Amino acid sequence: MASKKDYYEILGVPKTATDDELKKAYRKLAKKYHPDANPDNKAEAEAKFKEVNEAYEVLSDSQKRRMYDQFGTADPQGFGGFGGGAGGPFGNGYYSYSSSGFDGFSDFGDLGDIFSSFFGGSARTGGTRNRTKGPRKGADLNLNLDITFEEAFLGVEKEISITRPDTCSVCHGSGARPGTSVTKCPTCNGTGTVKQVQNTILGQMQTTRTCTACHGTGEIIKEPCENCRGKGTVRKQAKIRVKIPAGIDNNQTVVLRGEGEPGEKGGPKGDLYITVSVRRSNIFTRQGNTVTCEIPITITQATLGAELKIPMVDGSIEKYTIPDGTQTGTKFTIREKGFVSLNSTARGNFVFTVIVQTPKRLNKEQRELMEKLAKTMNEQPPIKKKGIFG
Ligand SMILES: [Zn+2]
Ligand SMILES: [Zn+2]
Repeated sequence: MASKKDYYEILGVPKTATDDELKKAYRKLAKKYHPDANPDNKAEAEAKFKEVNEAYEVLSDSQKRRMYDQFGTADPQGFGGFGGGAGGPFGNGYYSYSSSGFDGFSDFGDLGDIFSSFFGGSARTGGTRNRTKGPRKGADLNLNLDITFEEAFLGVEKEISITRPDTCSVCHGSGARPGTSVTKCPTCNGTGTVKQVQNTILGQMQTTRTCTACHGTGEIIKEPCENCRGKGTVRKQAKIRVKIPAGIDNNQTVVLRGEGEPGEKGGPKGDLYITVSVRRSNIFTRQGNTVTCEIPITITQATLGAELKIPMVDGSIEKYTIPDGTQTGTKFTIREKGFVSLNSTARGNFVFTVIVQTPKRLNKEQRELMEKLAKTMNEQPPIKKKGIFG
């Protein structure tokens, strides 16, 4: 990384220099140190030229200039930003250009063109290139997991088996056969992109497209690793233990950090998203954190009242006494026996609805008793009148 240089001194301007003054100073010095203008001491001129470019690149950008004035550097690396290689996201465009493409420089002839085509374009693609080549987080993976209603209620730990890309153990992810190395793509000079200048009626337009030789990676693998065919990853089966928390609902997702695909260039692994499908229960249904169910009762239980045994989702039994004269469809609530809330310790309630079962088959004794009962209640109950016409 560049040591602390005084960019103002390099350009020979005061700290208060305006944009115009900076531009003027830069043009003058760029002409002076252009390697083509110094055939006798090209190397020295090139070094100076780079320095001038670096200074101008920082000072001509108001944000970088402010940063430089305040911290003495425009490189955010020192502030815990991008942890990339030399240069960080700033300034690299110039270095790479001057080290790679000086020959192309003279084609432009006039320095005015250099300004429009480089300060607008190249300096920015420097950042893009860095992103292409720098560490990148691996892709996230998605998976569906079926669990039972009871498992959602209690929480469950499951071992799941997935086939996912893993870093190739032969080439350690480089994709190159052991003993060989990955080389910089000569087509794009490792940038992953190719610039094209087109003449249009609006003037010269510069477009950038992905390099087709290396597919944007900036690298060419001449001898691919045989194990992974140059991909750097191989698909492997992995067994992962996943903890599904109690209270999870259908279509909710559990994230396992770092269980996705491997990152590129030392980047972190992606994440694994597990979306849960909760199977329906034959007995219970869920409404928010409330569990509901229907409890069949006999006509005598409804009439006389009874102590019922209510099955809970966790397999236990709650005793609940219903009063005499209970009508079919009446709901009863057992507090805090529903689902636990995912983000607190609060629990929903358990609500059951009693359904009176009219007996279909009676034995002789029961029938006689019913007939006896009917005689004592031999009137049809009065029709309940409803509404304003009642
Ligand atoms: Zn490999
Ligand atoms: Zn390329």
